[in-house]
Amino acid sequence: MSMSRKEFLRTTGKTVLAAGAASAASPLLVQCAKKGKSSGGFNMEIKTKRLDLRHAWTIARNTSTYKEYAFVQLKKDGVCGWGEAAHNVRYGESLESIVETLEKARPILAACDPWKFVDVNEAVQAVCEGQTAAKAAIDIALMDWISKSLGIPLYQMWGLDPAKAPQTTFSIGIDTMDMVRQKVEEAAPYPLLKIKMGKDNDEEILAAVRSVTNKTLRVDANEGWKEKELALRKVEWLAQNGVDIVEQPMPVEMMEETAWVKARAPIPIIADESVKTSGDIPKLAEAFDGINIKVDKAGGLQESLRMIWMARSLGMKIMLGCMVSSSLSITAAAHLSPLTDYPDLDGHLLLASDPFKGVQVKDGWLILPDKPGLGVEGAF
Ligand code: MG
Repeated sequence: MSMSRKEFLRTTGKTVLAAGAASAASPLLVQCAKKGKSSGGFNMEIKTKRLDLRHAWTIARNTSTYKEYAFVQLKKDGVCGWGEAAHNVRYGESLESIVETLEKARPILAACDPWKFVDVNEAVQAVCEGQTAAKAAIDIALMDWISKSLGIPLYQMWGLDPAKAPQTTFSIGIDTMDMVRQKVEEAAPYPLLKIKMGKDNDEEILAAVRSVTNKTLRVDANEGWKEKELALRKVEWLAQNGVDIVEQPMPVEMMEETAWVKARAPIPIIADESVKTSGDIPKLAEAFDGINIKVDKAGGLQESLRMIWMARSLGMKIMLGCMVSSSLSITAAAHLSPLTDYPDLDGHLLLASDPFKGVQVKDGWLILPDKPGLGVEGAF
C-alpha cells in the first residue's frame, strides 16, 4: 500500500505526537484533560470589606485611616478561587464602580468554560473598560481556581522556580525627617529600601535615611523632576549614594527628556506612571531601562505575564509593584516575582490587620506558599 508524502507526514506526525503525549502524561495534563470536560461556569460571590491601616495614609489632598476593598470568590466543582480589588481614585475607580463592573462580568463568568481562561479574560476585559482593579480581581480568582483545581501552586503552573524570587524592597513614604528616621529604623528586617522623593527636600530626605542606614536604596521620584539637567544631576548624585535604580524621574509627557536622562544615567531608569498595560511598553524602550508592573493597574495576572514577556523581548528590566492591599493580592503578584528583577511587594504590611496569610518575607526574601493555587489562607 502506498501513501502520499503528505499522508505519510500526517500519519508519522500523529504517531510522534501521541507518543509524546503518552510519555509526558503528567498529572497536570491528565487533570487538564479531565477537568476540560466539565461544563458550566462560576457562581460568583462579592464581598466588600473595610481594612484599617497601620498608620494614617497621607496623599496630596487627604488623609485616610482605612481602605475599602472588594473581594471576589469564583466557585465551581467544589473549588473556590479568590480575588481582591483595591480601587485607585487616580484611575477613576471607586468601591461602587468596582462592584458595578464585577456585576457586569457576572453573566460572562456564569456561562464561561474556566479552562479557556485566556478567552474568559478577553470576554471580561470587554465589560471592564477602564476598570482594571475589578478585572484584576476576577483574573486573580480565575488563576487561583485553575491552579487549585490542578492541585499545584500557581507559580508551578507557569513553570517558575520560587527560589528565583528576588528580595523585595520596603517603602518609606514622605514624612517629617524624624518620622523618616523612625520608619527606616522600623524597617530593620528589610535589606532594601524604597524611598519616595521628588519634592523640594530630596537632599534632606537622603541625609535623614543615610544617618541611620547604609542599605541599598531605590528611589521613586513620582514624576517630580521637571528639567532634564536637574533630573540627570539627581540621578548621578543618587547613584553616588548607594541608590541602584530610579523610578519615574520625570513627568509622563516628558518622554524625550527622560530618554536624554536615560542615555547618560549610570543606573537604570524605571517607568511607573508611564506604563499601565502591554500596549504602552514598545514606545517606552527608548526612554526607560525597565517598567514597574502592578497587577491591579495591568488588569490581572495574565496581562502582567504578557507585559513581562514583552518588556523582556525589548531587553527591559522588570519591577513588580503593588497597591496597599491584603496578603491575597500581594501573594497573587508574588507568584510572578521569579520573573522579575525588583519586587516591591510591601502593601500588606501597611494594614493594621491582614485577613489573609500568604507570601512571607524573610530577610527581604519572598517565600511563596507551597500550596495549590495562590496558597492563601484566611476568611472572607
Ligand atoms: Mg512609583
